[in-house]
Amino acid sequence: MADDTDITWIAPRGRAQHEVAMPGWRVALGRGLSMRCPACGEVSAFDGYLKVRRECSSCAAPLGRVPCDDAPIYLTLVIALHIVILLMVLADYDGGMSWVASLFIFVPLTLALILLMMRPIKGATLAIMLKVNLLRPAPRVVPSGNG
Ligand SMILES: [Zn+2]
Repeated sequence: MADDTDITWIAPRGRAQHEVAMPGWRVALGRGLSMRCPACGEVSAFDGYLKVRRECSSCAAPLGRVPCDDAPIYLTLVIALHIVILLMVLADYDGGMSWVASLFIFVPLTLALILLMMRPIKGATLAIMLKVNLLRPAPRVVPSGNG
């Protein structure tokens, strides 16, 4: 029986590399930022806009067991709001910008940045957590029926 702390898993039969191991940090992070499976990079890690696949269909990496939770949105907000606040300070350096102009420029910009950055950042978070093998425990299979 495989230990939960193993960082390798068995890929589906038919693949040349039957036992899959995590790649190095740069490769895993690059694949995560490009929203692909951090382990193999062959298929999308997502099954929708932000829903992570239960398992990679190519290498069987347990993507759905990675507990990303709220980390991606926190990181997205920290990065996006730093960018927007810096742009607001630069744009209104002399104090001449009206609040209406600020509202119509920076609110849509903030929303666009958040929507564009959330998915790659979630992919990167997924890659980091999978790389350090921070996974939820595998669901136990309980034999059913007593007769
Ligand atoms: Zn994979």
